[in-house]
Amino acid sequence: AKAVAGESEVPFFSISGSEFVEMFVGMGAAKVRDLFKQAKEKAPCIVFIDEIDAIGKKRGGAAIGGNDERENTLNQLLTEMDGFGTDTNVIVIAATNRADILDKALMRAGRFDRSIYVDLPEMHERREIFDVHLAKIKLAPDIDRDFLAKQTPGFSGADIANVCNEAALIAARNNHEFVTKQDFLDAVDRIIGGLEKKNKAIKPSEKKRVAFHEAGHATISWLVEHAAPLLKVTIVPRGRSLGAAWYLPEERSLTTTEQMLDEICATLGGRAAEEVAFGNISTGALSDLERVTKQAQAMVTIYGLSENIGNISYYDSSGQSEYSFGKPYSEETAKKIDVEIKDIIENQYQRAVTILHENRDKLDALAQKLLEKEVIFREDLEEIFGKRAWDPELTERPVTEAVVENTPENTSSEDPQESQN
Ligand code: ZN
Repeated sequence: AKAVAGESEVPFFSISGSEFVEMFVGMGAAKVRDLFKQAKEKAPCIVFIDEIDAIGKKRGGAAIGGNDERENTLNQLLTEMDGFGTDTNVIVIAATNRADILDKALMRAGRFDRSIYVDLPEMHERREIFDVHLAKIKLAPDIDRDFLAKQTPGFSGADIANVCNEAALIAARNNHEFVTKQDFLDAVDRIIGGLEKKNKAIKPSEKKRVAFHEAGHATISWLVEHAAPLLKVTIVPRGRSLGAAWYLPEERSLTTTEQMLDEICATLGGRAAEEVAFGNISTGALSDLERVTKQAQAMVTIYGLSENIGNISYYDSSGQSEYSFGKPYSEETAKKIDVEIKDIIENQYQRAVTILHENRDKLDALAQKLLEKEVIFREDLEEIFGKRAWDPELTERPVTEAVVENTPENTSSEDPQESQN
């Protein structure tokens, strides 16, 4: 918004949605009136409201926890925007991360009638964002912006700013004269996975379990066709996790049933490996289970990808559903859905166990290598498994997102929801 104002050479008013409501009762509406009065006086101009969801949430009325102050503020905003004539020359821009919860009235013609979806930056966009943030940093001469952009798939602009800042801190801590490539790589790893804790005490038996868990993920994702290719696996404790695997998911707009099932299978590979290697399982698969449960739920209730439920979606894109008191399906269907979700996960788990049994020697070799080296890369996997059968040239594949798989600590007594994923 600031850039638009700059380009148009007009004044720019910026306010955050929460500022309207943090004041005393009754002040929100007054503040809105005041803002628009100023804007009209300074017209032509641009008004930017950040975090509009703070005031723009759906109005629900007191019955379901409505907030009078917020609703008054929103009503005032709607009224002010209606009051613009075609000759007012005030452009109002707002931003939110939660467009789904906004009140429908905000998006009607004459109000915010155009929406621009700002996606996460792609590689060349990330390179340009790096350009902005790197300007302030003393860089080693070999730093290549393309390289940095490639290492940060799925990062937002704020994440990239964070990487640059973190890299500078790491460089300073290591008494480097310049920020080096390795400082950037460490910063990226730290932001994705938390700080490495090399001297965290882990019992050897636990370390072995983590090695097999991660080796299980790696093995399955190597051997099933549609799983995301693996970049790196580590059993160095990091943040609140004991091990992690880095993947490069391919960019796709549609996902087939087979692809979802393969992904679920690979995610369950950690626990399956524990069963295959030790004959028992542990709490280390928490984040894996959380993820596959959500995926299976989505397959059945949102995407209509399950045979027994069929082509039905209970997803409500309008978000205006009034059925907040009950589910949109019968008790009987609810039971079927439960069975279906359980079946999907169970079948993929058994599939993972079977694959691991059949490749037990490779699983062992991989776990052993992990225990020796603590970090292994794609090349190490290739050494054990040979070239991956269905991998197109990895380097030519567009990169959109990095997923880090974490194994939460077994002994953690904290709220599992806080564990990073
Ligand atoms: Zn896992």
